[in-house]
Amino acid sequence: MYRCEYCEGTVQPLTLKREAFKHRDGFVILEDVTIGVCDTCGNRYYCADISSCGSCCCNWSETLSKN
Ligand SMILES: [Zn+2]
Repeated sequence: MYRCEYCEGTVQPLTLKREAFKHRDGFVILEDVTIGVCDTCGNRYYCADISSCGSCCCNWSETLSKN
């Protein structure tokens, strides 16, 4: 757990069974991936646990927060 970049909230781990992320090259589907979610503002940190995110090598959290 760590402090949210955008507010005073705490980022909590959340394991997703299956999640499709929109990526610049298309959609990427991740299974059983652990991400971080702020318990106050809800901002998601997709690189919270890179070890379970096989192809994560870019700033998804940055990209997605601009949506
Ligand atoms: Zn936050």
